Amino acid sequence: MRYITCKSISIPDLMTNRHDKENLSSVIEVYPARVSISYAKLIRQPGDAIWKQCIPDISELHDDIQSSDPLAETSLSPVPGLIHRYPDRAVLLVSNCCPVYCRFCMRKRHVGAGDAPLSRAALDSALAYIGANPAIRDVVLSGGDPLMLDDTSLHHVLSKLRAINHVAVIRIGTRVPVTLPERVSTELCGMLKQFHPVFINTHFNHPNEITPESTRACALLADSGIPLGNQTVLLRGVNDNIETMRCLMTRLLEIRVRPYYLHQMDLVRGTAHFRTPVSTGLEIIRALRGFSSGMAVPNYVIDLPGGKGKVPLLPDAVERDGDTLYLTNYLGERIAYRDVVTTLPE
Ligand SMILES: *Cc1c(COP(=O)(O)O)cnc(C)c1O
Ligand code: SF4
Repeated sequence: MRYITCKSISIPDLMTNRHDKENLSSVIEVYPARVSISYAKLIRQPGDAIWKQCIPDISELHDDIQSSDPLAETSLSPVPGLIHRYPDRAVLLVSNCCPVYCRFCMRKRHVGAGDAPLSRAALDSALAYIGANPAIRDVVLSGGDPLMLDDTSLHHVLSKLRAINHVAVIRIGTRVPVTLPERVSTELCGMLKQFHPVFINTHFNHPNEITPESTRACALLADSGIPLGNQTVLLRGVNDNIETMRCLMTRLLEIRVRPYYLHQMDLVRGTAHFRTPVSTGLEIIRALRGFSSGMAVPNYVIDLPGGKGKVPLLPDAVERDGDTLYLTNYLGERIAYRDVVTTLPE
């Protein structure tokens, strides 16, 4: 299993003063940093939404309350590299590197730590585990970024998975269309489409990440018959307002990417400066619903601590009075709905 090569920028060169440079090195000692050349080009000015996502910040070190693994992924790992939380789905961590080390990453403890991809031996034991568990119907390749593997290694993983009869669906979670769009080649797409059904969930967080290059990458993938979804993380100072989020979600549809999840930040150590109150996410969902295409509205989810699973949050909970439900619509009107089922004559 081998990685592709990925050119990155020198982050200290971006820093304008000595103080920033000194802070930078103390953060990087704890949490690795990398910014691909493609992603660095999206920075318009220091401190903007792209900068905040990829440039180390001293705040990362001023957050020691949270756990490095709040979702208990380590304890839900029956063999190294595999997370098995839900009966029918498993996550296979094939890579621990990415073109960009996002500062808010939920797997901050894992990414960039050592540069080796999952070893053949570890892959074989993960595949043996999946093979021995017929309940697993959906395997999510994650990491790190699975598309950091070269085409030969990816082909190996995919053909081994496809050889397991009960694995119906293969999903790939990747931020490569955003952070390294040139990785998405016709060769890669031609290879992926041999393993259908393959789904890709990508990861756009801001409208400035929708560029001619990322648009082209998504079009190539979609033209290969791969349904594209998107997982956005709700990030303070990046996308935690209605205008940015509405623009992002509607433009994603235009590049054939269907918003899937809006994630409340996990309680991961080193990410506190990005966290928003849940009320912010609920406000955004309320604003999207009814005022944007329904297809542009993602599920706003909290991934519960302790590996207890993802729970969708809705802005207006159901109220009940006997047979009557009171539901609040997108205009904020409280509407009664009669919850009665007529018994039909036999
Ligand atoms: C999110 C997640 C999945 C996939 O969940 P879906 O809701 O099916 O997208 C599977 N396993 C783990 C451990 C996860 O965190
Ligand atoms: S691309 Fe994904 S896995 Fe990699 S650092 Fe960013 S959020 Fe984490």
